[in-house]
Amino acid sequence: MTTVPQLVEAARKSRSLLLGLRRAAQATSDGGPLFLAPRRGLGHLVERTIQGLDNAGVQFCPLSVTSLIRDGQRWRVEPGGEPFDAVVVATNATAAGRILSPDGPSGLFEIPTASVALVTLGYPAIDLPQGVNGVLVPASTGWLMTACSFGSAKWPHWANPGRSILRVSAGRDRDTRALALGDEELVDRLAGEMATALGIRDQPHTWRVSRWPDSFPQYRVGHTAQVERITDELRRTYPKVTICGASYNGAGIPACISSGRAAARTVLRATRELR
Ligand SMILES: Cc1cc2nc3c(=O)[nH]c(=O)nc-3n(C[C@H](O)[C@H](O)[C@H](O)COP(=O)(O)OP(=O)(O)OC[C@H]3O[C@@H](n4cnc5c(N)ncnc54)[C@H](O)[C@@H]3O)c2cc1C
Repeated sequence: MTTVPQLVEAARKSRSLLLGLRRAAQATSDGGPLFLAPRRGLGHLVERTIQGLDNAGVQFCPLSVTSLIRDGQRWRVEPGGEPFDAVVVATNATAAGRILSPDGPSGLFEIPTASVALVTLGYPAIDLPQGVNGVLVPASTGWLMTACSFGSAKWPHWANPGRSILRVSAGRDRDTRALALGDEELVDRLAGEMATALGIRDQPHTWRVSRWPDSFPQYRVGHTAQVERITDELRRTYPKVTICGASYNGAGIPACISSGRAAARTVLRATRELR
């Protein structure tokens, strides 16, 4: 329910999960593309957000926060020592746990993360299966690859006659093999698996590796109740401090935006109540 609410919805509304998902996809895409991304890359979303906040007069102080210290009715952010009326901690749960130690909810340390490596492979034009944007690989295969997105077929701005781009992911919950491999070995292994999966005979002529350590929060059974316990405890011990982000109520970008908005509303309400 927390990780992929669309699955629950589809299962409830249809006699078949696959039929339900197909219908939901048709309804949301409205004939348009199923996947959307900023043409200039996801980093652009961050740049535009910062620009918008900057225009609205928000001041940015890039800082690696070590702790929050109570200072009467306010909170001092360390290092720096500047006091604030209210604080939103938008890091992942483990980092939030460290910032809120020693009195913060210990449950924050119990939400684990997985690390991911993304390898983008550029090939001369290759024949890819039609009608799909990629493949997912279950853990039971024992493969290093967890998914492959047919980038040049999925994104019109990546399409280029004469070349194909595949984006392959490795690393999942309790599988840290990709972390231990150097870039070249990782590329070799994943290109080899792609060759087996899709019958590709060519070698990639270009590649890029990007690593995202501890980036995917892993929701265990009971996650929702645990997040409720954490927020209750926080409300009691850290008034006017709240948490948000992918560790808590949904991991994708839309869920993170909702979570950020909810956190902002919570601290605004608390600030008004305590004044
Ligand atoms: C490879 C990959 C592909 C993905 N693809 C998609 C996708 O296609 N669609 C989608 O919807 N989602 C996707 N996601 C998920 C999405 O990117 C994340 O869920 C989202 O970015 C999480 O946002 P967040 O703000 O919770 O955390 P983050 O984006 O991790 O932000 C937390 C920030 O806190 C900072 N921080 C940590 N500790 C401190 C500290 N002590 N002091 C100050 N700052 C600190 C970090 O530097 C970081 O900038 C993908 C994720 C990965 C890793």
